[in-house]
Amino acid sequence: MAQSIAPAAADVPAIAPISLKAVAPWALFVGMLMLVLLYFVGAEQGATALLSGEQVHEWVHDGRHLLGFPCH
Ligand SMILES: [Zn+2]
Repeated sequence: MAQSIAPAAADVPAIAPISLKAVAPWALFVGMLMLVLLYFVGAEQGATALLSGEQVHEWVHDGRHLLGFPCH
């Protein structure tokens, strides 16, 4: 007698597909957050700095080197 460890098809609940219309606002939001993060890691220094001081630069300094942005 053969037994399977996989559940029968009737036991698995149906998962509704997620529409592109439902995902689009979240994708835009996450994309904007990533662009802000990329700005702070890659360009928030010197003439392009929005915030004065070196706090932001010190926080993202290792990330700059990891991603290959010019630093010093
Ligand atoms: Zn550096």
